[in-house]
Amino acid sequence: MTNGNDGPSSVLQTALWNVQQTVRRLKLTDDIARRVIEPAERISIRIHPVIHDDGRMLHADVFLVRHNDVLGPTKGGIRMTPTVSLDEITGLAMEMTWKTSLIGVPFGGGKSGIRADPALLKPAEKEVLIRAFTRSVQRHVGPEIYVPAPDMGTNENDMGHIRDCISYSGGTSITTGCFVTGKPVLLGGIVGRREATGYGVVSTIAAACKHLNLNLSNFRVAIQGFGNVGSVTASAIAEQGACVVAVSDISGGTFCKDGLNVQKLIEHVKTTGKVKGFAGGKDISLDDVLETECDVLVPAATHSAITQKNAGLIHAKIIAEGANAPLTPQADDILIDHKVFIIPDILCNAGGVFVSYLEYTQETQRDQMTRTEVEHRLNNRMKSTFELVFNRAEKTRSTMRHAAMDIAVTRVVDGILARGLLP
Ligand code: NAD
Repeated sequence: MTNGNDGPSSVLQTALWNVQQTVRRLKLTDDIARRVIEPAERISIRIHPVIHDDGRMLHADVFLVRHNDVLGPTKGGIRMTPTVSLDEITGLAMEMTWKTSLIGVPFGGGKSGIRADPALLKPAEKEVLIRAFTRSVQRHVGPEIYVPAPDMGTNENDMGHIRDCISYSGGTSITTGCFVTGKPVLLGGIVGRREATGYGVVSTIAAACKHLNLNLSNFRVAIQGFGNVGSVTASAIAEQGACVVAVSDISGGTFCKDGLNVQKLIEHVKTTGKVKGFAGGKDISLDDVLETECDVLVPAATHSAITQKNAGLIHAKIIAEGANAPLTPQADDILIDHKVFIIPDILCNAGGVFVSYLEYTQETQRDQMTRTEVEHRLNNRMKSTFELVFNRAEKTRSTMRHAAMDIAVTRVVDGILARGLLP
């Protein structure tokens, strides 16, 4: 694996750093370490769909990585951004292996990517692109191989198109088993999947407050990113009485020291497409949001948002990693030195994949779960996994990230040994 064009603080480098440290702590042999670290399959495909009315084609690279399937079929979202690369997808797939293992669902780690800018696509153009992507990777997708879901730049409508494309190819109304999660509820999706990651983030923050003897309802919160994860986290934490003082998206930030009205901000973003210009706050820069005086900072946008350059400027007591790999390893060290309590991504944002697992079982059994059932199971699983990680961190006097990685990687190693080493 090379670092490709990701630069020195890429998600792949962060993922490799974290797993290599874990391999050392757990004293794994070189052979087992390679089984744990090296991706099983990395695919890059060029597609040329005709997406424009005038017959012009879009020439796009798509990527699919199945990192490790020891504990089950690989699971992970589809990222659509103009810069996504095979290395970025590899790092994210690796993270999914630890996340599914830690949260205790029978999946491995995978991820896929489409290099395109969703903001430049009309809905019909995006549908053609999603269908072209689906056909190109279809032989690598299925309930026993890789089950995609939404990630940055993709949403439940796109997942509906994927399911339709696969069932249409087979000439059937539905797929046999679950090929994709995060679908619209009408098409076999599960109630509560859209909110699951954000609710899970807030469950882990509430659990941290309990253990650290802090009162969530007195908290000031800053959130980077106001898409699926950021906006749901903002609503859910405000409902618990906390004050959301700063929020950003790619357009810029907004701030109100007495607390932003989150529902009005959501309406503003629906109407204008951006956070900037919100009448209930003062426009601030992207950096200002990260550096806001607050108790909790939730990076919920993209990877490597906090580096050694800005880590020293963070004021939060708790960082809850809503995004995947938002901290570089150097930033992590600086923040740990500053006694910031960090809830690592593989724990903090695992609510999405947990509810995806419920969707997978629901579709397999042709069952329908209620919102109460889904939220109850999500909350219980997030809390019990937080306890497991917190207790291990206390016992071994390590960080939450080290404890989470040690538990996750140990389970994958146990899976390798339980399956046996022969082909
Ligand atoms: P999304 O596309 O719905 O939203 C992303 C948001 O981040 C947008 O508001 C965008 O404008 C903003 N953004 C992008 N770059 C930014 C920057 N430099 N500064 C400030 N804001 C910026 O994506 P999402 O589904 O909410 O995912 C966000 C993060 O959470 C990603 O890292 C993703 O991998 C991770 N995640 C998502 C899920 C899920 O269920 N959606 C699950 C686990 C982890």
